[in-house]
Amino acid sequence: MQKGTIGVTSENIFPIIKKFLYSDHEIFLRELISNAVDATQKLKAISSTGEFKGETGDIRIKISSDPQKGTITVSDNGIGMTEEEVQKYINQIAFSSAGEFLDKYKDQLNNIIGHFGLGFYSAFMVSKKVEIQTLSWKEGAEPVKWSCLGDPSYEMTKGKRKERGTDIILHLDDESKDYAENDKINYLLNKYCKFLPVEIVFGKETEWKDGKQVDTDKDKIVNNPSPLWTKKPADLKEEDYMAFYRELYPMQEDPLFYIHLNVDYPFNLTGVLYFPKIKDKIEMSRNKIQLYCNQVFVTDSVENIVPDFLTLLHGVIDSPDIPLNVSRSYLQSDSNVKKISSHITKKVADRLEDLFRNERPSLEEKWDNLKLFIEYGMLTDEKFSERAEKFALLKNTDSKYFSYEEYKTAIEPNQTDKNKRLVYLYATDAQEQYTYIESAKNRGYDVLLFDSQLDAHFVNLLESKFKDSSFVRVDSDHIDKLILKEELTKPDLTQDEQKDISAAFEAALPAGSHYSVVIENLGENDGAVLITRSEFMRRYREMSAMNGGMNFYNSLPESYTVTVNYQHPVIKKIIDEKNESLSGTVAQIGDKLAEPKSLLFKINEKTGKLKEEEIDRADKDEKEKLESEIEKLEGERKELMSKFGKENDLIRQVCDLALLSNGMLKGEDLSRFVKRSLSLIK
Ligand code: ADP
Repeated sequence: MQKGTIGVTSENIFPIIKKFLYSDHEIFLRELISNAVDATQKLKAISSTGEFKGETGDIRIKISSDPQKGTITVSDNGIGMTEEEVQKYINQIAFSSAGEFLDKYKDQLNNIIGHFGLGFYSAFMVSKKVEIQTLSWKEGAEPVKWSCLGDPSYEMTKGKRKERGTDIILHLDDESKDYAENDKINYLLNKYCKFLPVEIVFGKETEWKDGKQVDTDKDKIVNNPSPLWTKKPADLKEEDYMAFYRELYPMQEDPLFYIHLNVDYPFNLTGVLYFPKIKDKIEMSRNKIQLYCNQVFVTDSVENIVPDFLTLLHGVIDSPDIPLNVSRSYLQSDSNVKKISSHITKKVADRLEDLFRNERPSLEEKWDNLKLFIEYGMLTDEKFSERAEKFALLKNTDSKYFSYEEYKTAIEPNQTDKNKRLVYLYATDAQEQYTYIESAKNRGYDVLLFDSQLDAHFVNLLESKFKDSSFVRVDSDHIDKLILKEELTKPDLTQDEQKDISAAFEAALPAGSHYSVVIENLGENDGAVLITRSEFMRRYREMSAMNGGMNFYNSLPESYTVTVNYQHPVIKKIIDEKNESLSGTVAQIGDKLAEPKSLLFKINEKTGKLKEEEIDRADKDEKEKLESEIEKLEGERKELMSKFGKENDLIRQVCDLALLSNGMLKGEDLSRFVKRSLSLIK
């Protein structure tokens, strides 16, 4: 028997391992199985070169456990170790590298992914004693038993293994006993070992017998040693990819399509990425990509490894070239990681462009489920955005799809305004904005549909990309003002008359929001009153609401523009009514105003060029007096108009109709409108 002390610089690394790597305790099984996989693959390698001439037999790794005793055994029939090898690889290298590792990362232990490089000694995170029974493949080798109680001393004696290979036997410590439970082991195997390249056996296949499930004598293989991404694309069919997707995500709907990644220069990368259907919520599909290193599961959070938008994809990436035992911030600056990122971005763009060129109907069919992914990519990744301009689609309110180029060509002749700006019209809700969409279509215009989560941002992006173009929501003004072809003729009204009409209409609109009334010539065939919200104000509010902000603009009441169509017969009728019933009173007020107005005019003429301090006291007083008199009279006139507006059924009716077509007429106002309508048709 040989006794010794493991050469570790720190007096005792085990407490440190337990303490700092606590959250990752469960990886011990993956580490031990990975070593077993290595040992079997080395055997295959020396067998194929002829160095090993014996029978390899069925190469398998077997896990067994005894929940009562609290032991787990990982057995392989790989190359095994001689006494010297145990001395060298376990006593010296494994433990000293553990010491080095901890020394190096002392300060940032919490940042370490810590997945790899832990190796064999991670067994001590969960064990009070670890035992090795091993027999080397080498001729004449003697079996070796090694054991260690989780302090830097070990024991090495003659072992009892008769066949080539290694058993690692863990005697779990009291807090870790649960790991010996079948369920727990199955969970760990499923999480970390699902696609390891060597068959892994745990327990027996079961069958139903006499109403009970009983073990058969057939070993149960828990992994899929040749997962799809390790196979040649040429040997695979669409169904294989879909079946593998279901193997990865049993609860998910089938994906739209996939890409098989296969790179061996300048870095190694294989994998399959799937484009999931993303209907409305981006967050739901995030972080499903699994990262593997030579078929060993590493992590399913790939942020910082691939660009943010690609974390929306699903699937598997396998690369031995991604450094894993480093902090996430370091990962971002790693040159391999950068190359891998841009490679994947390029592949994704290639696939989409290919779909656009060669399978356009299929792209259109998938577009609604793909759109969020592409918009998110375009918003967050400039390179992708440049590529995507070639294959991204726009959808209009008739569910027709266009490329950016096609759409521009289609609308250019008709939707260019008098300032040579191309105006893109869009709706965010085809139902709610129906009236506006119809009036745009009546002019022969086309209306796009932008109804997804990201579209408010996306409209801004497109506007910045497309030269001499602007995007306006179809209900943000009268259609002829949205695409201004020629200046509209002005209604034939004095300023005072315009003020009167505005006052009457304002009074008929519900309180709580701000309405500014404008009177325009919109032709006899257009509506009488139109309520719109300016593109600028709406976008501003939307953006700041999205950024979670309560700010000045959001605290203001909503403001709308009310366009009164002077050429509409009903409006003509209203104005006639107003003139008929009020022109007498208005004229009286007008007469009363004439004198103070002309006096004020004279004073202003006299004092207009003077500085404030040069004006006579008397003139100042007189001016103030006249102004307040005028204000009072004008107030009376406005009062008169408001009263007229409030009491005039026609004004209220046309205003309510305009509100109604915007879905803005609610509650009491709505029920009053219904009653009034009934009384009007009686
Ligand atoms: P790493 O696997 O990163 O080299 P480990 O600490 O896990 O580090 O293992 C140290 C060494 O011990 C391995 O490189 C290998 O030579 C040897 N070893 C560990 N487990 C086995 C095994 N099951 N069979 C044969 N050799 C093993």
